[in-house]
Amino acid sequence: MELAENQPNWIQLKDALARRLSPQVWATWINQIKCLEDNGKTLRIGLPDTFSLNWVKDHYRHVIEEELQSIGSIDLLFDLHEVGNDKEPEPSKASSPVEEALAIPEPVEEVRPTSFRSNIPTPSRPQLNPRYIFSNFVVGSSNELAWSAAQAIAENERPPYNPLVIVGGVGLGKTHLLHAIGHIFQKKRPQAKIQLKTSEAFINDVVTGIQEHRMPQVRSRYRNCDLLLIDDIQFISGKGHCQEEFFHTFNALYDAQKQIVVTSDRMPHEIADVEQRVRSRFAWGLIADLKLPELETRIAIIQQKAANEGLELDESVAKFLAQSVRSNTRELEGCINRVHAIATLRKTPITVNLTKEVLQGIISDKSQALTCDSIVRAVAAHFEIRISELKSTKRARNIAFPRQIAMYLCRNHTSASYPDIGNALGGKDHSTAINAVKKITEKITEPDVRNHIEEIERQLLD
Ligand code: ADP
Ligand code: MG
Repeated sequence: MELAENQPNWIQLKDALARRLSPQVWATWINQIKCLEDNGKTLRIGLPDTFSLNWVKDHYRHVIEEELQSIGSIDLLFDLHEVGNDKEPEPSKASSPVEEALAIPEPVEEVRPTSFRSNIPTPSRPQLNPRYIFSNFVVGSSNELAWSAAQAIAENERPPYNPLVIVGGVGLGKTHLLHAIGHIFQKKRPQAKIQLKTSEAFINDVVTGIQEHRMPQVRSRYRNCDLLLIDDIQFISGKGHCQEEFFHTFNALYDAQKQIVVTSDRMPHEIADVEQRVRSRFAWGLIADLKLPELETRIAIIQQKAANEGLELDESVAKFLAQSVRSNTRELEGCINRVHAIATLRKTPITVNLTKEVLQGIISDKSQALTCDSIVRAVAAHFEIRISELKSTKRARNIAFPRQIAMYLCRNHTSASYPDIGNALGGKDHSTAINAVKKITEKITEPDVRNHIEEIERQLLD
């Protein structure tokens, strides 16, 4: 299939959108989009008429851009295309190995809103993504708080926190954990009423409820559920009336001791245009954040994804991918799929070289070029100490801590072994390097440690 090679970003994007959007939205809007240009830097997509073009721009632009961002830094352009151009093959009818590898999965996630949705009956059971279960979620220090809180909510008769607010950047597993809670809840209490909605779907329900004079039914649906799961609550920003509805729904459920879980891509106090009284509700329970997974977790995630797909992945490839793709797990998945697809097409095994070739332009060149020496230089500059001090045997905290950070960064960003890292820091023993990496990994959730690391990474990679 020519598309695989010529339109790699578009194929990945479509795949991601298929997973994220409802079948109705997919069939009505996304499926008619054609890729007009996909050159690695720009993705130009076309719709058949001005109405569709404007509709998609107005309603799905942010979703498309968000997913595209996870694939790489690619400019998105919208255009019109001529009707009657060659149709892309139906993904579900994929027949060649690469078509199968790139085939777009059946969309299963909760519905994004559109105004035509008001005619679609709300499902009595939540549409839980079968892949988003706890056993598919790899736990590390970056996400263990959110993971254990989510488990506690799902498993306990009397959950310890209400609400649970899961906060984290794009692609870090918020939706995954939300669905995982839904799965367990449903299994343990088959009679329980669960409402799983994106905040946009919630907004849409309220808006159409008002338009169609059905607010009592809408209210009763939300206020009589046993578990309310709202994904991406940040989109409630600026939607005054919907905030009001959310506020009353929250109060009703909270008073009735029903569980509420919301996810957000930012801390509640950072969501603009949200009334204080709504915001304050989020602080009543637990706010658990998801951070970027550290190297070991990224490797484990890759190995798990590969195993799930029956893919044989050498350890060196898993480590290379984990070192190269650091932005988020969704991007990591996209890269694995892409490498898998090309390897299938060429009928070759997945090696580090193939991975490098396939992901050229996507993974940061700077990241590939990092060495222990460049990291040592950046760490010394950041902490305003001399390189010779960093390499010395001084144990004062103002030197020892930066040294540990340098060792941690070397481990995360280069393929250097522990003995190599010890050498790069003035001939230390490999066990010193192992301990340093372990220490920083344990402390990575402390804001101070995290801030230093992120600042140095920005210096090195941006
Ligand atoms: P978010 O909602 O935070 O944007 P998602 O929950 O959609 O992110 O996660 C993006 C993808 O990454 C999903 O396919 C999800 O299964 C996967 N993912 C995220 N975190 C993990 C993890 N810790 N272990 C395994 N898969 C993960
Ligand atoms: Mg999400």
